[in-house]
Formats: sequence, C-alpha cells, structure tokens
Amino acid sequence: MKLPITLFEEMQDYAAKYHVPIISMEGAELLVRTVTNSKPLSILEIGTAIGYSTLKIAESMPDDAKIVTIELDPERVETARFFIKQSGAEDRIQLLTGDAGGILSNLNEIFDLVFIDAAKGQYLDYFKKIETKLSYRAVVIADNVLFRGYVDSDAVPPRRYRTIVKRLREYLQYVSNHPHFETNLFRIGDGVAISYHRGTQCE
Ligand code: SAH
Ligand code: MG
Repeated sequence: MKLPITLFEEMQDYAAKYHVPIISMEGAELLVRTVTNSKPLSILEIGTAIGYSTLKIAESMPDDAKIVTIELDPERVETARFFIKQSGAEDRIQLLTGDAGGILSNLNEIFDLVFIDAAKGQYLDYFKKIETKLSYRAVVIADNVLFRGYVDSDAVPPRRYRTIVKRLREYLQYVSNHPHFETNLFRIGDGVAISYHRGTQCE
C-alpha cells in the first residue's frame, strides 16, 4: 500500500517542530527493507509516538497484515490517530494507550515482527515479555540501541544516561547470546539491532 509522500513530510515537520524523536531516515529505510523482505502478517510496535514508523511499516507490509502499536503519552496518541486516519490505513492499525510493560503482559497474539522503540531502559523487559509471543519466523527490530554512541564506547556517559546505557548493553548481550535468535547490529541513525528467529522450537 503506497502512502502519500506528503503525509510523511508533514509528520517529519511536526516531529521537528515538537521535538518528537522519530526514527532516522536511514533507520526507516532499514525498517522498510526488513518489513518488505519478511512479509509479516502480525506486527507489534512498542512506542508509536505520532505514528511515523507505524505508517512506514504499514506502507511496506502485506495488504492483509495488521499492526498493534502501543503509546504511553495521550497527546501523542491523539496526534498519531490524526495522522493514521489521514493515511487511510486505520482499519489495519490498532493503537493502544498505556504503559507497554503492562500491556505486553496481557497480549495474547503471536507476532511475526516486533519493532521496539519505547522506554530505552525497558528493552530487555519488553523482549522477555514478547519472547513467548513470537512465531518461528519472527523478526525483532530495536531502535536507538547504541544510544548516542555511548553503548559501544568506553566514554563515561552523563549520570542521567548511565542506567539506560547499562540496560541497552544488557539487551544487546541477551539477544546476541540467545540460542534461538541471530542478531545483527547496524550502526545507522542511533543504532538498530535486528534479531531473526532461527526457526527452532522456542521453549
Ligand atoms: N516509533 C516512533 C518513535 C517512538 S519515540 C517513530 O520512530 O516514529 C518513543 C515513544 O515511546 C515516545 O512517544 C514515548 O512516549 C513512548 N514511551 C515511552 N515509554 C513508554 C512506555 N513505558 N510505554 C509505552 N510507550 C512509551
Ligand atoms: Mg527511536
């Protein structure tokens, strides 16, 4: 499904104006390529913001695919609803408002693709909560995993970032050593990790 380029431009302008951290241009290209190649039918996005990455995914997914997307901030949810409505893809996108940690525990679907892009300190918690809800061909994409370069550098991060950096390292370690996933790290944008399910039994 092709969406108007003007809609994405409008969203980029909005994000710049109101300081909404949407995915980088290169990150978006990688996301689109991954969705196009893996043809997921059931998609979960954690961290909708204003729906920019949601609509990038919607544009490249199969026509009969569906997205569940979660956002904590009610104002962003409103804005996302506005843009999603304009896209005409609203019947394929279910937008849930609230804390992803809580919502994930109550989801009963099986997902072919998950895009993690909410609270940076919670990625490992999100992954552990969705691990049992992934199909054997699932792909998990995580944005901002290098967090301003601190995650793979020896530089001491400012105090306020220390926990996030430590936890992102734990996330990367976990998915890299996971027997059922193969993980590739891309040094583009703020860092993107893509974990592919190896297709073996997940227990
Ligand atoms: N995926 C978007 C950008 C998301 S920015 C894009 O690339 O277009 C990260 C978003 O996660 C923010 O809007 C923030 O409000 C949301 N967020 C932060 N903590 C969250 C939580 N605990 N549960 C759900 N959403 C959360
Ligand atoms: Mg991001």
